[in-house]
Amino acid sequence: MTKFEILHKDLMGRIGKLRTAHGDIETPTIMPVINPNIISIEASEMKKYGAEILITNAYIIYRNRDLRDKAQRNGIHSLLGTEIPIMTDSGSYQLYEYKDVEVSNSEILEFQRSIGSDVCVPLDVPTPPYVNWKRAKEDLEVTLSRLREARTLTQDNLLAGVVQGSTYVDLREESARHAAELGFDLYAIGGVVPLLESHGFDKLVDIIMASKRNLPLNAPVHLFGAGHPMLFSLAVALGCDLFDSAAYAIYAKGKRYLTSDGTKKLENLRVLPCSCPVCTTYSVTELRESTDLLAAHNLWVTFEEMRMVKQSIAEGSLWELCERRCRAYPSLVDALKRITNYSAEIEKYDPATKRPFFYLSEFSAHRPEVLRYSNRLNRFDISGRVLITTKEESEVEKFDHVFLVKPPFGPYPVELNESYPVGQSEIPVVIDAEAKTVALQNVLKLMALNKGKANFVFQYDSSWDGHPLFEEIGKYAELVQFVRQAT
Ligand SMILES: [Zn+2]
Repeated sequence: MTKFEILHKDLMGRIGKLRTAHGDIETPTIMPVINPNIISIEASEMKKYGAEILITNAYIIYRNRDLRDKAQRNGIHSLLGTEIPIMTDSGSYQLYEYKDVEVSNSEILEFQRSIGSDVCVPLDVPTPPYVNWKRAKEDLEVTLSRLREARTLTQDNLLAGVVQGSTYVDLREESARHAAELGFDLYAIGGVVPLLESHGFDKLVDIIMASKRNLPLNAPVHLFGAGHPMLFSLAVALGCDLFDSAAYAIYAKGKRYLTSDGTKKLENLRVLPCSCPVCTTYSVTELRESTDLLAAHNLWVTFEEMRMVKQSIAEGSLWELCERRCRAYPSLVDALKRITNYSAEIEKYDPATKRPFFYLSEFSAHRPEVLRYSNRLNRFDISGRVLITTKEESEVEKFDHVFLVKPPFGPYPVELNESYPVGQSEIPVVIDAEAKTVALQNVLKLMALNKGKANFVFQYDSSWDGHPLFEEIGKYAELVQFVRQAT
């Protein structure tokens, strides 16, 4: 029986169902990190926030004799006091932070199995961003040998194949390809936390894409360490399904208040802008005095954003959400720009029919739908006299074909006025330069595709006057400007 079933798709994001020994979970979802030594919110409380699965660190439990005995005697679920699924991390983060762990790969895997973890993780080697290639490659070899070893051990629980390779696209690809060949129940992209901390989100886009294009589509992908809600729409759009959040507690300790648009310092808050149970019950002053209350708010907004992402997938508006969220920080704008570089790749996964297209900013000009439309311009076989016009009120009867120009798509037959995506797209009255440029590039493409068969007239209103592409269009078409009507 397949362990992961995909229910809805949008861009490369999906809503899926993952089977675990403690029940099904619906992805995308976030796994709150439970540290058995420092608990601000009990594991048994997590369900009310929306948690369907938790994550804890097997190494922390293993290292503490008392916790280890309890976990081995009664299981990890009993130790944490919950019956919802639990993923266990292996201690590779400790390996990264403190350079040494006193446990082998096979020992920690056996330990995870013995305490009844639902998802086990081998002891991979997280390589920091921007180390030299040789070091990243050597680390990766160790990770891959541990993944191979993990596959030979008997497992009845789900097993995660970790993808490493630092900031090198070739190594991330190699890592993902090898993990996929070994075959895991899910895959985890690791080693990105320092990149997240330095807001290297454009590089994160490259890493996710390099990994995803080599991983099987029918398995969930966990983005290790990405717990800030502002990142969810972006990462889900690129095909990540699982997230973990220690952020809710770590940010609370630093007196920082999470929102889906970023982080606010509690000391700067005059009011609590959120409507979660904490923010509607307590005052700013009370929140300042209680890390636990702040952690609870942080968790509420974290799950709220994940539900928003899920709804956006279901209704086909994930791009719009992503575009809105990525306007919050300059480094997220960079990431959104980077995503548009991958539009051709994303287009292959993106379902073809969706709800109306909303043009929100210049980034919308490079959405997968626009690229797909451009790729399909060769479907129009035209000849004779052809009018391409930016305004509808023309003397259309003189022409064999009439195309209207709608930014950012470009030319479309007037008969398709109501059809998806062009006819149904909603664009602002004032069009930005990027949308016009993409539209005119597609006008040029249509003309080039039908060169010699059709005589083109390109008619434009004053808002398009003087566009740099007109010179090129003039080589194919007679340019005619609308005469301004007397008022
Ligand atoms: Zn709140």
